[in-house]
Amino acid sequence: MSMTTPDGNDAVPGSGASDGDRIDAVLRQAADIARPAAKDGHVADYIPALAGANPDGFAIAMVDLDGTEHLHGDVDVTFPIQSISKVFSLVLAMQKADASSSVRDELWSRVGREPSGDPFNSLVQLEHEQGIPRNPMINAGALVIDDVLLDHCEDSKRSTLELLELLAGESLTVDRDVYDSEQGSSTRNRAMANLMASFGNLRHSVDEVMDPYVYACAISMSARQLARAVRFLANDGIEPDSGERILTPRHARRVAAIMLTCGTYDASGEFAYSVGLPCKSGVAGGIVGVVPGRMGICVWSPPLDGSGNSRAGRIALHEIAERLDLSVV
Ligand code: GLN
Repeated sequence: MSMTTPDGNDAVPGSGASDGDRIDAVLRQAADIARPAAKDGHVADYIPALAGANPDGFAIAMVDLDGTEHLHGDVDVTFPIQSISKVFSLVLAMQKADASSSVRDELWSRVGREPSGDPFNSLVQLEHEQGIPRNPMINAGALVIDDVLLDHCEDSKRSTLELLELLAGESLTVDRDVYDSEQGSSTRNRAMANLMASFGNLRHSVDEVMDPYVYACAISMSARQLARAVRFLANDGIEPDSGERILTPRHARRVAAIMLTCGTYDASGEFAYSVGLPCKSGVAGGIVGVVPGRMGICVWSPPLDGSGNSRAGRIALHEIAERLDLSVV
């Protein structure tokens, strides 16, 4: 029998229910509250492959460190990970930095670790700050990370895909439509790359840097796969199924810190306030979240708010974090 609270929501099952039942009920409640908000958002339309996304698509996937899954909605529908890829490019760069102090010095002299307070594709700070992007979670920062990776990976596109396949535990594909149309429509990203090059903060040509950037954005994953893939950040840098170390505990914490402070662009403060988890969003409507010591989360709903974050996704994360007391702050 379903119980109803005075505000009309289904009540969470009581003390007799298992943890799994309780979490499943919370996901249903979060979805009921969040889904209507999608209609006030706008699906990214700068390329046809994103403009055609189903605005009613919706998923919540939570995967515990022991592999237990809590799922709601379209959890196996794949979508381009877009800027969520920036987390994994940073992870690759941190791996290189772990192995070499000169890479570490280079990395953090070429990109900052402060929230930008500006849109993810803004050019204004770059001019004022001599071509040094504020952080690796905005477009300019990810372009610098890609430039660094070109020097330190034999094939940085392959390394990114292989890292994600290892973390998701499955083979993945790249959406060719997204890849091709972003190559042809990235005038703003190219402007950023050119501006950074003019300040001496790009070693490779704009075309060379754009290629792995666009490729990583076009990797297709489902909410279930993404929730699995971020679990190592909740597990001191170790992928929990294979036991493989991806990052040192210190660097795993630092990636999560950058996600918390910068992962949702100029809404990062609001996310820290209302969700309280390290998160990273992408313009196709996915948002991943990390619950240290416990789980990886991914929500997906394509319509975006003014900052480029999934509108319903943020509300769902807020409801889940509140009801399950997941906030790290
Ligand atoms: N492909 C998008 C871009 O480069 C990614 C941005 C995002 O997901 N916020 O602008």
